[in-house]
Amino acid sequence: MKQEIIFLSSGKCSWGKCFACGWGKLKGPEPNLHRLKNIIDKKFKKLKNIDRLKIFVSGSFLDDKQFPKSIRKYIIQKIKENNIKQLVIESRPEFISNESLSDFKGIDLYVAIGLECADNKILKKYNKGYTVEDFVRAAEILHKNNFKVRTYLMVNLPFLKDIKKDLDKSVKFAKKYSDEIVLINTFPHSESALYDLYIKGKWKPLDRQQFDKITKKYKNIEKDFDNFAFIPRFKQKPLVKGATKESLLHPYFEIWQDYIQRFYKNPSKKPVLFLPCAFKKPYSKSKLHKAIFSVVNKDKVHPVVISSPGVIPYEFIDKYPFNKYDWPEWEETSEIKKIYIQVTQKRIEKYLKNHKYRKYYCYLKYDSETYKALSKACKKLKIKLVNILPEHVYEKIKYRKNSLSLPEATKFLKVFK
Ligand code: SF4
Repeated sequence: MKQEIIFLSSGKCSWGKCFACGWGKLKGPEPNLHRLKNIIDKKFKKLKNIDRLKIFVSGSFLDDKQFPKSIRKYIIQKIKENNIKQLVIESRPEFISNESLSDFKGIDLYVAIGLECADNKILKKYNKGYTVEDFVRAAEILHKNNFKVRTYLMVNLPFLKDIKKDLDKSVKFAKKYSDEIVLINTFPHSESALYDLYIKGKWKPLDRQQFDKITKKYKNIEKDFDNFAFIPRFKQKPLVKGATKESLLHPYFEIWQDYIQRFYKNPSKKPVLFLPCAFKKPYSKSKLHKAIFSVVNKDKVHPVVISSPGVIPYEFIDKYPFNKYDWPEWEETSEIKKIYIQVTQKRIEKYLKNHKYRKYYCYLKYDSETYKALSKACKKLKIKLVNILPEHVYEKIKYRKNSLSLPEATKFLKVFK
């Protein structure tokens, strides 16, 4: 079955308060018939031989305030003209009525409802704004009108005592009222209350392995591990400053490390080259990184920086807070150096456990805390690490200014040219 998805932005979700949702808070352009018709015409021009069309709207397609009836009628007409067999839309239960469904006669319509879980206590805490009974009422109206119910259940919601038991209960319940069920991994949108919980370290999203383990028993049910491309984003962007434990374990660094360790996919066919950070941000603007990349070809090797925020694959160096932190070396005490090595070693270990490479290289000062942390991590994981800069060369240049930027040192990086 060939299916396509259309994202239509119009107005705002009538509710906008669900615990994990940030989209519902966003205000799209005013619902304007002329604008929407133009968008729809363009989208439909690209749709060829489609069996199933999904329309996603961040809110409710059946809400007149978000999508005026006339625009719904226009889309239905287009669907019929294009011989599209099935239509999937999303709506909150309160907009599902005989009246709002009347225009869809003759279409194989699925209405997706975010039940999330079949427990009113959790729904209340989740701030869903409707109950299990509201869902049932809406499902019955849909079936009476010969339409179908597509039910979203969220896996790993906050506030659950037992994720597996709760999911079992919800799946059993949803089966009674649904034609399709989708198990969705819970990810927090950046403007959501759940994101705050994640930042505070009180909740974590499931990674692929954890999600698959919990959901594999539900054989004929659709699973959606990452229905939006989650990446850490922060509304406030303060400078993270100071060579302190607080700064090293800053919650934003921790969120990023969790993301990089468990969700990021590395280019495993390449060798990795671990690099030092630089005071200038982004690192690519620093003298050191300019010197390194005047020699190194990024197609040949995967550069990864190790610094106080943790392990930073080079693709992320422009992202906040990797582009806005200061770890002044002159503020370092022997105590903080010890903590830095411990914390960084653990972060590297977690990274290397989840990300394999063809070979493992670094270009680091032998007496740096970063090198010590990396060496310990590799030793523990029995990984052969090669410092591309020979130790005897480093011994000769180590007291010179910007030693790692010197041609005597960077020439060894030519193996990655
Ligand atoms: S999850 Fe849906 S209903 Fe809830 S706020 Fe977001 S868009 Fe609105």
